[in-house]
Amino acid sequence: MTLDTSSSRSLGPLEPVGPLAFGHWRFVGHDLATATELVETALDLGMNLIDTADVYGLDWGGDGFGDAESLLGSVLAASPSLRDRMVLATKGGIMPPIPYDSSARYLTAALDASLSRLRVDRVDLYQIHRPDMFTHPEELAATLSRFVEQGKIGAVGVSNFTPAQTEALISYLGDTVVATQPQFSVSHLSPLRDGTLDQAMRLDLRPLAWSALGGGSLATGHGVRTELMLELDALAARESVDRTAIALAFVLAHPSRPVAIVGSQKPERLRSATAALDVSLTRDDLYTLIEASEGEPLP
Ligand code: NAP
Repeated sequence: MTLDTSSSRSLGPLEPVGPLAFGHWRFVGHDLATATELVETALDLGMNLIDTADVYGLDWGGDGFGDAESLLGSVLAASPSLRDRMVLATKGGIMPPIPYDSSARYLTAALDASLSRLRVDRVDLYQIHRPDMFTHPEELAATLSRFVEQGKIGAVGVSNFTPAQTEALISYLGDTVVATQPQFSVSHLSPLRDGTLDQAMRLDLRPLAWSALGGGSLATGHGVRTELMLELDALAARESVDRTAIALAFVLAHPSRPVAIVGSQKPERLRSATAALDVSLTRDDLYTLIEASEGEPLP
């Protein structure tokens, strides 16, 4: 038996997206030609979900808040036709050093600032980056509903929310919420058991797995259990791919049909990531990887 990983994923009322997405956390410091090449490469490969955030730019050598969105905005201004080829996702709600703010007043200004940096009238998916425990979900739902009514966003996603926090928002906002973005990889397995992926299947939310390669550690092995690297390498040899393709295939194999967000800023690595789509992992392979990741046999 093999598990299907390759076909596109629905995202509520938005255009379907490919199983791999291009993440923009590290999309900073590129010149316009390099940035454009990266976006075009991703789109050509079927990575049509582009995942950025207003806060991206504070890390990885950027000057600061908004830099990744601004760079993507420059790409879109120079090559406007790229906008039609992508499902554009951004996030708001983190404002260092507060750190989280999902009040109506804050998010209203944050979304307008994102649209202005991205040089677009609308983003397809607007995600609340981290839960603000001091905003009532009813207030958040009202704010996000207004954004949809104004045509500024197409749908809503949550990120780093507990299932209970997601449920609370959905109780006010309904099926406008179409995605949940947890950290999920073969070295970060908590969504398998904390209810995130179960809730996604029950409520038809698309899981968007962040740091699907463990932030690069599943490529390099740094900080990753040796048994896991050995299993990834054994499966990579069997499938004639590299270990990152096996790590991505693990994420894609879950029945909630996640999208794996790939964060590489090298066109050749975006290309090689697509090898994951041809990998067939069996149930035995998947449980072997879980045991190797956790360092103990399953009961
Ligand atoms: P990732 O794909 O797990 O890691 C990307 C890193 O791995 C890059 O630094 C890349 O370096 C490196 N890498 C990839 N292949 C490699 C290889 N074969 N050898 C050595 N290094 C390799 O993704 P991520 O950037 O951590 O996260 C992906 C996306 O998830 C982000 O862009 C963002 O969209 C999203 N995210 C969301 C949250 C959230 O809170 N919602 C948090 C973090 C990330 P190169 O660029 O040199 O290839």
